[in-house]
Amino acid sequence: MNSQDELSSVAPLHRLAPKSLYIHIPFCESKCFYCDFNSYVANDEVKANYTESLLKELMLIHEAYFPKGDRPRIDTLFFGGGTPTVLPLAHWEQVATFLHDRFSIDQETEWTVEANPGSINDNVLGELKQFGVNRLSFGAQTFNETLLLAIGRLHSVRDIDKSVERAMQIGFRRISLDLMFGLPDQTLTDVRESVRRAVDFGLGHISVYGLKVEEGTPFAKWQQGGHLHLPEEDAEAAMCEEVRLLLQDAGFLQYEISNFARAGEEARHNLTYWHNEPYLAAGAGAHGYVHGRRYENVKSLLRYQQMLAGMERPIEVDLSVTAEEAMEDSVILGLRLREGVNKKAFLAHHGISLHEAFGQVIASLKQRGLLDEDEERIVIPGKYFSVANEMMVHFLGNS
Ligand code: SF4
Repeated sequence: MNSQDELSSVAPLHRLAPKSLYIHIPFCESKCFYCDFNSYVANDEVKANYTESLLKELMLIHEAYFPKGDRPRIDTLFFGGGTPTVLPLAHWEQVATFLHDRFSIDQETEWTVEANPGSINDNVLGELKQFGVNRLSFGAQTFNETLLLAIGRLHSVRDIDKSVERAMQIGFRRISLDLMFGLPDQTLTDVRESVRRAVDFGLGHISVYGLKVEEGTPFAKWQQGGHLHLPEEDAEAAMCEEVRLLLQDAGFLQYEISNFARAGEEARHNLTYWHNEPYLAAGAGAHGYVHGRRYENVKSLLRYQQMLAGMERPIEVDLSVTAEEAMEDSVILGLRLREGVNKKAFLAHHGISLHEAFGQVIASLKQRGLLDEDEERIVIPGKYFSVANEMMVHFLGNS
């Protein structure tokens, strides 16, 4: 194999132009007890200052990666947070106008916005649609009122019903719901009921995550003090399996470890990440991957604003991705998908075949029944899919 530098300089993946953009809106109406995302409860002045900085950052990003005057096509656009819908509409309009001015965004662009039930109304939904938003991702989490309170969500079950129904009536065809399992004192019956209620909407996409207690959150503190009663590991595993079976019976494919979709309803933006393709990112704490570098923006809103006041990119960490690391990422991220790692795409991205890069480890995992292979791809067998994370470690340092 060539030296890392030689390979990095030729890795075709690192020459691809990014076609996806993530924008982070770090505001919420209150903090959920389990949340360690970069989000803050803030007043209108903070939101106005943030929007001003975000516009500067988007301008710098455009200048950095595209020739002056170019309006590059954006294939997927994702506003995450935080709760992007708590940004006042006037600021939404500023950002949307800027994006349409500098980038080519059309009906084919998948434009997703994360929203909390209860954080939207008809006016907000109508405006988002006008801007070009065509996909909503609602953080429902559970359809049990007591559990919603126990995890610090502000919305009620009624808010979920109302928000999804209004979004559908206003014409959003693509809606996703997030659900959680492994919540304090949650039972298998609760999980079943939440999945049933989510399925009953007739949506095309549902994401389901197991609760993780993150450091620095109220949940971590309560757990240390012995005040957090989480389901045992076995019970949690049973919930995970139940979710998978119920959604499968309802016609959803588990196309990624935590994501289920009806045919054609997969989140194209997230597929960009799992296909290890480049993407731009803007906003406090946002992560981007472009031209062989992974960057991470500063999290602090003040620092973000200060750096952009001086027209400096607000980057905290900027790492060069070697050819070996890029290959490992392609396999580790790709194996999260039901479709697995496509051999042709791997060759096109890395200029080296999957077998040249990982022949030994593939052979060893296949022999142990932990990996399947056909002419087109390698995949994790269905029965091991939910523990795929544990298998990926075999590919680290083995290219
Ligand atoms: S709404 Fe989402 S981002 Fe905001 S605090 Fe709750 S979990 Fe965190």
